[in-house]
Amino acid sequence: MEKLYEGKAKVMYPGPERGVVRVYFKDDATAFNGQKRAQIPGKGVVNNQVSAALFAYLEAHGVPTHFIRLLSEREMLVKQVEIVPLEVIVRNRAAGSFSRRYGVEEGRVLPHPLVEFSLKNDALGDPLIYDGAALALGLLTGPELSRIKELALKVNALLKEYFAQRHLELIDFKLEFGRLPTDEGRAIVLADEISPDTMRLWEMGTGEKMDKDRFRRDLGGVEEAYQEVLRRVLQAQPST
Ligand code: UDP
Repeated sequence: MEKLYEGKAKVMYPGPERGVVRVYFKDDATAFNGQKRAQIPGKGVVNNQVSAALFAYLEAHGVPTHFIRLLSEREMLVKQVEIVPLEVIVRNRAAGSFSRRYGVEEGRVLPHPLVEFSLKNDALGDPLIYDGAALALGLLTGPELSRIKELALKVNALLKEYFAQRHLELIDFKLEFGRLPTDEGRAIVLADEISPDTMRLWEMGTGEKMDKDRFRRDLGGVEEAYQEVLRRVLQAQPST
C-alpha cells in the first residue's frame, strides 16, 4: 500500500477514512542522528504496544492524544495531525545530552522536572531551541507553547507514577505534539510514540538501564530490556 511517510522507526499509511492514519512500527534502530543503525528484533512489537498502553492511560487521565486503537502487534490507528516541529524533552534526572552539555554526572536529580525543546531538523542535528526562537520562527503560537509545557509536565507526573508502580524510574523522555482540526480551531494533542526508544527507564534500586541506551552504548541485552518493559506495562495494576 502507498506510504504517506516513512521515518526511521515507523511507516505511516492512509487509514480507513479521512483524517486517520495507520502506523506500522519497524524493528529498525538508529542512534546519533542516524550514524548508528541496526535491527532490534521485536522492537516494533514492543514500541507499538507500550505506546498504545501509555496513550490509553494518559487519555484516561485527561491528556488528549492522537491514539485511536491497536490494529495488530505492530500497527495502531491514530488521528492525523500536523506535527509541531519540536522535540519536547522532559527530564527528572540529568542524563545524555543534558549531562554532556552542562558537564554534570548522569543520574543527578534535578530539583524540579525540566522541559526542554529541540528543533526537529536532522540536517541541523536537532539543535536545542529556546522559547523566543521557536516563537520567532513561527513554529507555534504562545498559547500553544504554554499548553505544550503544561501537558508535558502532566505527562511526566502521570508516567513517573505509572513506571514507579512497575519498579522503573522515569529519567527523561521525548514527546511530540500535533494539531488536530476541531470546530473551535486547532487543538494540541500528544502524538508520535512513547516507548523505550524515546524514554530513559532505570531499574529502581540498581539503576540498570532498560531502554535504548543499551543499544546506543553497546551494553548488550537490548531485546531483553525492551521485552521486560513490555511485560511490566502489560502487567495488571489495580491502581492505574
Ligand atoms: N530522545 C528521543 N529522540 C531524539 C532525542 C532524544 O527520543 O531524537 C529521547 C531520549 O531517548 C531520552 C530523552 O529524549 O529519553 C533525552 O535525550 P537526550 O537529549 O539526553 O539525548 P541523547 O542522550 O539521546 O543524545
